[in-house]
Amino acid sequence: MTRLFALYAVASLLPVLLLGLVLARSFRSEANQEGLDEGRAQAALVARTAVEPLLDGHRLGRLTTVEHQALAALAKRLIARGDVLRLRVRDLSGRVVFSGDGSGLNATPDDEAIEASHGEAVAHLTTLNSDANDVGHRGVASVEVYLGLHGGSGSRVLSVLEIYLPYAPIASSISVGVHRLYLELIAGLAILYLVLFAITASVSRGMRREAALNAFLAERDVLTELPNRTLFLRRATRAVQDARRAGESVAIAIVDLDRFKDINDTLGHHNGDRLLTELAGRLAASMHPGDTVARLGGDEFGVIVLGVSDPVPVLERVRAVIDHEIDVCGLPLSVQASLGYVVAPDDGVDVDDLLQRADVAMYVAKANHAGVTRYDPSLDHYDAAGLTLASELRRAIDEDQLVLHYQPQARLADGVIGTLEALVRWQHPSLGLLYPDRFLALAERTDLIDKLTSWVLARALRDVHDLHAIDPTLGVAVNVSARTIGRSTFAGEVLEALNRSGVEGERLTVEVTETALLADPRGAAEVLTALAGAGVSTSLDDFGQGQTSLGYLSALPLDEIKVDKSFVLDMLENPAHSAIVRSIIDLGHNLSLRVVAEGVETEEVLLALAANGADIAQGYLLARPMPIEAVEAWLVQTRANATPAPASR
Ligand code: C2E
Ligand code: CA
Ligand code: CA
Repeated sequence: MTRLFALYAVASLLPVLLLGLVLARSFRSEANQEGLDEGRAQAALVARTAVEPLLDGHRLGRLTTVEHQALAALAKRLIARGDVLRLRVRDLSGRVVFSGDGSGLNATPDDEAIEASHGEAVAHLTTLNSDANDVGHRGVASVEVYLGLHGGSGSRVLSVLEIYLPYAPIASSISVGVHRLYLELIAGLAILYLVLFAITASVSRGMRREAALNAFLAERDVLTELPNRTLFLRRATRAVQDARRAGESVAIAIVDLDRFKDINDTLGHHNGDRLLTELAGRLAASMHPGDTVARLGGDEFGVIVLGVSDPVPVLERVRAVIDHEIDVCGLPLSVQASLGYVVAPDDGVDVDDLLQRADVAMYVAKANHAGVTRYDPSLDHYDAAGLTLASELRRAIDEDQLVLHYQPQARLADGVIGTLEALVRWQHPSLGLLYPDRFLALAERTDLIDKLTSWVLARALRDVHDLHAIDPTLGVAVNVSARTIGRSTFAGEVLEALNRSGVEGERLTVEVTETALLADPRGAAEVLTALAGAGVSTSLDDFGQGQTSLGYLSALPLDEIKVDKSFVLDMLENPAHSAIVRSIIDLGHNLSLRVVAEGVETEEVLLALAANGADIAQGYLLARPMPIEAVEAWLVQTRANATPAPASR
């Protein structure tokens, strides 16, 4: 701090000193100039009042004896008084014709004298030193002036006066002014320095404050001001190291709010944020000094509890704090949380491993509605991959690791491709491309499935929108899990996604399974009705697998049923399946529904379906699900094949 201060002091002093030097130099030369002017004026006075009256204006260059004597007397007087150091008279060619002290009589003519003979007074600062007989005044500072002497009547220069005036009295007369100038200069520079210093100091103080603020923000969650993930990881790492050194334990917990998305959806993000902020404040206040609560993202918090082997009481308190009613917009809300924790060093020493394990424990807690759960390697043993995946899935969605593959559906009557079904995959960084059977069930155990559906919906609509140029009426079908269709806010979300994408509702189909509808028939009916209002089609997926009550099937606003592929795949070899397929087609048509057959792998099955009156076919025969990049080329190719080739001549 003091070093910085000294640095500013020096840094702002340098330019001021430099300016001072430059100004002082220019003052000095100004003062010298003034000295010369003064010398010139004094010389002129001597010339006009004392010398010229002694000379006979008619005679050029040479002096009469009378003049010589008069000049000698004058020089003697002036030199004796100290007013003049030396006095000479030169002719117009520069030769000395009179010298008060006898010096210079034989010296060569002087350039300055010739210059002065043309009318210009010439003045120099010099020292009296040049002549051999110049004994008394060697080295005395003086002003040397050459000045034309005029005749009595006027303007012509007849000879030149060379006069050396002592500089000391002149200097002292101007030095008073110069001193004052110097004092003012010093005062001005001092003020300038102080101002500069104050500005530099205040700017750098501001910058330091900003840097400190940035450092603070880099480690804080913007919404709640709790430590963020970065700071949490750093503190956790240090806590584990310290605990190992001291032979103590440290607990690290991951806290995830249950069904927080519902609150966000029903009350709006603004109120969701208020709830999180309020919770964060309470959690921070409930921590012991030294312990940490951090916001890791979304509705996920991290807790570090130092120096206890059994953190359960502390973590139960965290849960109780979250559970405690919070007033948001006059609504008393209570939120539940699931906590998973590890104890280091017992459960591990590497912070990444520890967090991963705490995460797994949190998912177990969530799945079992168990509240606080400690990581247990045996748990990990039977479902290690699954639990780990579940804990990774949340970030996978945020980081866009999910991809959609599209499978086309063709109208049996004319082969036109009306819809693409979006099927989700996970491009896992280490496990490669994962199919829905590896991770969907895990997502459905938690509210992650809502996040997944939102992502799929948005991406599918964006992709189909981008295919506009190829086919402006092409539709897309999106699978929606039971858990999601059961949420009253779902229809609103779909409409919002449609709005954002600019795709018309008529081009979207929502595929739901029978089990989803059976779980909450009335709620589901409300959602489907709202979707139908926006032109969105609904399709009953995997039909034949569940135990649909035909009664409520007719009451639902459905547009389509999809015959489950398990019946279609082997319908030619399995008479029972063939009969089921036929009766589903009939049932669908009786209810005025389109009937889609999925799992069409062979030409023979396709023909049989057409013969039985199915409307639409989907399966490997047409195309396997493919990434969006491949869809465009596929559509173009299919259309070209369908168009009869012109007959070749
Ligand atoms: P689904 O809705 O019945 O989707 C059809 C599944 O059958 C897809 O498997 C598809 O690749 C496969 N398939 C299509 N044609 C044929 C065929 O000719 N023969 C055979 N043997 N199989 C065929 P996938 O992609 O593994 O999807 C499995 C299930 O995962 C889907 O079954 C669906 O229930 C679910 N799913 C897929 N994507 C999503 C999604 O985005 N959200 C939700 N909630 N569920 C999804
Ligand atoms: Ca489906
Ligand atoms: Ca299906």
